[in-house]
Amino acid sequence: MIYLVEHFYSIQGEGRYVGTPSLFFRFGGCNLKCEGFGCVEEAQNGAKVIGCDTVYAVNKEHFAHSWIEITQVEQLLKVFELYEFPEELDVVLTGGEPLIYAKDPLFITFLETLTKNNHRITFETNATIDVDFEKYPVYKECVFALSVKLENSGESVSKRVKGDIINSLASNAKDAFFKFSIDEDSITAALDEEIEQIIIHSPKTAVYCMPLGGNKADVEKNTLPLIEYCKNKGYNFSDRLHIRIWDENKGV
Ligand code: SF4
Repeated sequence: MIYLVEHFYSIQGEGRYVGTPSLFFRFGGCNLKCEGFGCVEEAQNGAKVIGCDTVYAVNKEHFAHSWIEITQVEQLLKVFELYEFPEELDVVLTGGEPLIYAKDPLFITFLETLTKNNHRITFETNATIDVDFEKYPVYKECVFALSVKLENSGESVSKRVKGDIINSLASNAKDAFFKFSIDEDSITAALDEEIEQIIIHSPKTAVYCMPLGGNKADVEKNTLPLIEYCKNKGYNFSDRLHIRIWDENKGV
């Protein structure tokens, strides 16, 4: 079963295509928890749930009441009728972790329809789930934002860094780039080592570093130290424009 948490038409707030008008599909479910990010969301029953800034798209136990069950591809395609778009439209598939549905026939049909309609598809993925590019060639038409998690996610290195999968996604996709979320306190020599141990799996892939934070105050606090870090290392700084503009508001 595929779960859709929300859809919205906005601008891409981070990474290589920052500022590009994009239709977002946020799918429910993830193979990681990333409680180290420390974002807190209140569930319907009042429970405080800790995780990443999209914990409501990760934690099925507490947030499934707002997840929509997708049983037919038409449910996803009908979303296009709800907005007015320019001719060229980027589609961003995010989550949660959208690749947990990578082998689902309905999901594959959705991707094939999007590419047939000339949409650029970008996956925002944690790069820990393998994709069969030979069996499902539609993935070769997609862009992958490889948001490999760092130690600050609280996940073990064996769960969050899968070198062979990083290499496969970067080498088979139409385009790929690394995207790391970094807070001021993480900027140490250990961070250099950590990032190098990840990008070694695809050394020619561009690196974007974004300030960590689920709200505007945290993003702003982490911005200047991260810009200095990027200048020092030669990495690209990426803002998190949506959080800076809309703060914690979802679906914008
Ligand atoms: S991998 Fe991404 S969506 Fe999943 S828990 Fe971590 S930050 Fe959240």
